[in-house]
Parts: sequence; C-alpha cells; structure tokens
Amino acid sequence: MREAFVDLGAVARNVAAMRAVVGDVTTMAVVKANAYGHGAVPVARAALEGGADWLGVVDLDEALELRAAGMSAPVFAWLHDPAADFDAAVEHGIDIGVSYLDQLDRAAAASGRPAVHMKVDTGLGRNGIAPGDWAAVFDAAAEHERAGRVLIRGLWTHLAGADDSAQLAQFGEARAAAAAAGLEPELFHVGATGAALRQPESRFDLVRLGIGIYGVSPFDDTDAAGLSLTPAMTLTATVVSAKRVAAGTGVSYAHDYVTPRETTLALVPLGYADGIPRHASSRGPVSINGTTYRIAGRVAMDQFVVDVGDDPVAVGDRAVLFGDPATGVPSVDDWAAAADTINYEIVTRIGNRVKRVYL
Ligand SMILES: *Cc1c(COP(=O)(O)O)cnc(C)c1O
Repeated sequence: MREAFVDLGAVARNVAAMRAVVGDVTTMAVVKANAYGHGAVPVARAALEGGADWLGVVDLDEALELRAAGMSAPVFAWLHDPAADFDAAVEHGIDIGVSYLDQLDRAAAASGRPAVHMKVDTGLGRNGIAPGDWAAVFDAAAEHERAGRVLIRGLWTHLAGADDSAQLAQFGEARAAAAAAGLEPELFHVGATGAALRQPESRFDLVRLGIGIYGVSPFDDTDAAGLSLTPAMTLTATVVSAKRVAAGTGVSYAHDYVTPRETTLALVPLGYADGIPRHASSRGPVSINGTTYRIAGRVAMDQFVVDVGDDPVAVGDRAVLFGDPATGVPSVDDWAAAADTINYEIVTRIGNRVKRVYL
C-alpha cells in the first residue's frame, strides 16, 4: 500500500559519478540514519559496488548493524554516547571519531587498540576539539599512541557552509598542531558532498559523501555540479478510496479545502506518521496517472486527499509523491519547497510503515 522504491543501481552510479569528479581520493559513503531513509544495508552494498571505499555512520549501533549484515568494508562512526562501548568498536573493527579529551582517554582504556580519527572544531560549533585545546589533546593522543593504546588514523572536521575558506585555514592550523605533537595520521578529511564536488581544496585524502549518493543535491541549483545524479527513492502509495462529491464539500480537518465544484476526491494513505510534512498541507505535489495535483487540505497522521477533478482516478491507482523528475513526477526538492525545509529532511523522515522495495 505504501512503498518507497529504492533504485540501488542509481546509488552505485551516483557513487561512481562522484568518484570520477573527486579523482584520486578515498570515498566514504555516508549511510547514517538508515541511509537517509533508504535502508542502510542495501544502500551500503550498492555504494561499495559503485566504488566507495569506506562506510560512514553516526554511532556504534549503526556501525554494528552493518557488521551484523556481514559487511567487511572500513566503517567510521563519529558521534558517541558518553558510555559508548569502545571495546565493541575494537572487536568489530570500527574506526571512531573522538572529539574531547575524556573520550580519547576512554578510547585508550578500551581493550585492544581502537583506530581513532581526532575531530577538530574549525568553526561549525558542534562536536570537535576547540582550537584552544588542540595542543593538550594532541599531546595526550600522541602519548596514548606511543604506548600502543590507540592508533590515530585520522584528523578531520566538518564544514558549516558559511565561511569554508576560514575553516580550511583553521584545519591547516590543526594539522600543524597535530604534527607538532608528533601525530602522523594517515587520513585527513573535511568535505561532505557539497564541498567534495565544488571545492577541490576540501578533498584532502578522503571525502564523506552522503546526500549525493541518494541522487539528491546539496546545492540550490539542484544539478550537483552538472553530474546528473539520479534520485534513488520514489515514494508511492496506492489510492485507497476515490469518490464523487458535490460542490462545497469540506475536505480533511478544519475544512481548509472546500471543493469548488462536483469532483472526485482520491485518498492517499500517507500522513505525517510516515514523514509527510503536515507543513506541506494544501501544497505538496502528487502525481497520479501522469498528472500532478496538489494536496487538498490538511495532511493527517495517516492520509491526505487529492482533488482530481473529472480525471478517471480509481482505487488501486498509484500516487507518486516524489521520484526522478526526469520521469515527469515531482522531485524531493519540490516537496522540500512545499514544506519550507531541505531535501535531506524529506527523504530521511520517511517512516517505517513505508515498505522499501529495492530495484
Ligand atoms: C551527514 C554527514 C556527512 C554527509 O553530508 P552530505 O551533505 O549528506 O554529503 C559528512 N560528514 C558528516 C560529519 C556528517 O554528519
């Protein structure tokens, strides 16, 4: 009834297309948050087939899910509960991001020798070691490394998309501070999809590619660097009711929509519980049998209504909310605009009641 078709071939091709742009740089496919709603394990497999070298996730639970599915590629996880089990990270060969001294000491206390990527805050103001602490934390890291308690594999940061050149300059300072402490990480990494595609100076040794592998653009001009990435997800549902009603019929809660004339109302079983933004009430686009309509009235928890006029829409027809706009259906960006949000949020929030069907 509710199906999100996920084109794994598109994922593989998107990875390959971005690899061609970034050149001789290691690529990490970011599959956090259930691969932005697309399904972590199938997407991770497809990304590796497309040539990705690493997989990136937020926390150890997400990393362990990939390992449990038998994936053996390098995995990096970077946002940890204060009580995160770094023994498990060592046991399953998961590299960890470390953002402050206590966390470093906890990693060093784990059994075995965790592979650590030190995160520096160069101006995003989220996770990462603040510049004033670089010297002390890098000294501690070097000491742990000499004692064989950790391997410092990486040094990295994340960009705010505000003043990237200032952040890149700060990252240069962080590299110098790490070298002064005697650290020689093998991997420096900074850029996510946007910077990786458009700012060669952000690429260093490895790029962390998220949104682009799903064929969704991080840029306002939507065409990610002229790459023609293919959107991987097509969100659909079956029309579950279609009926003729009289002019003046109020539709959905509070009757924000009233039919202007006799018409057919089609009911689509997707609502805000499925990640359809209520904010897109009266605005979100929906394609049925090749025609695009707007939602009539409010999006409810489980459903919304489309006024299809005199078009022959029937129970069992398939409504497409978004997919590849090249096929004539609305895009993720159309939905982001309708809901005043970003395309990332639209795909990521698609809920568990929507069955993922892999192509
Ligand atoms: C989510 C995330 C990425 C991927 O970002 P995209 O813009 O989706 O490519 C990269 N790095 C970090 C630290 C992230 O949290």
